[in-house]
Amino acid sequence: MKLYQLHLIDVGILEVRKKAASLEAGKKIQAEVEAFAAQVKGLETAYHKAHAEQKDIELSNQQIDDKVKSIEKLLFGGSVTNSKEVEAYETQIKSLKKQKDGNEDKLLTVWDEVAKTEGVYKEAQKTLDEKVATFEDWKKKAVVFKAQLEAKYKDLSAKRPAAAQGINATLMATYEATKQRNHGIGMALITKQQTCEECGTMVAGKSIESIKDDRTVTCEECHRILYWTGGIV
Ligand SMILES: [Zn+2]
Repeated sequence: MKLYQLHLIDVGILEVRKKAASLEAGKKIQAEVEAFAAQVKGLETAYHKAHAEQKDIELSNQQIDDKVKSIEKLLFGGSVTNSKEVEAYETQIKSLKKQKDGNEDKLLTVWDEVAKTEGVYKEAQKTLDEKVATFEDWKKKAVVFKAQLEAKYKDLSAKRPAAAQGINATLMATYEATKQRNHGIGMALITKQQTCEECGTMVAGKSIESIKDDRTVTCEECHRILYWTGGIV
């Protein structure tokens, strides 16, 4: 039956369209990777902030040490002899050392924060790198797959007009209408068990006889045009 050949082409085109739709998943994967990258950026910022805080405190301690050293140089160099002046310098040293003690306490917390944020950030970055690599791999394969689908679609579309030629106009109209109503599949084979391949409904023996007499028979349930191959399927 000529219509069956056309039906096979249409099924092929339908399959290509379904597979092409699966390529849309790329947009979703990309959005996920981008969202995750934004999260990693936030973790990186937190790590850099903690690290900068550590550097600030360390610098402050360095400045305190330098200041203490320069005061001690003055005191032990013999240039300061006035006892009140000596006392004032010693008070200043004490105050600086106290400030440094405070810094050391803060540093303990900041070191913890640096270690923690660094660990979380580096781990997330590793995961992000893997996600990006996976997506890049997917994209490469998708390009090849898309080209294959386009070639197949082009091939099937080119064959369609010739396949449609010579089919009775009424039968063609029935087929097109049935196809529209049934998600793009307008014909169905009758199986060995004498059921409609698409919906599983039993097909009466007289219907098969009618088909053999070259009459158009549709499935009672899904209304697809039935095709009989002699029970091969
Ligand atoms: Zn059916």
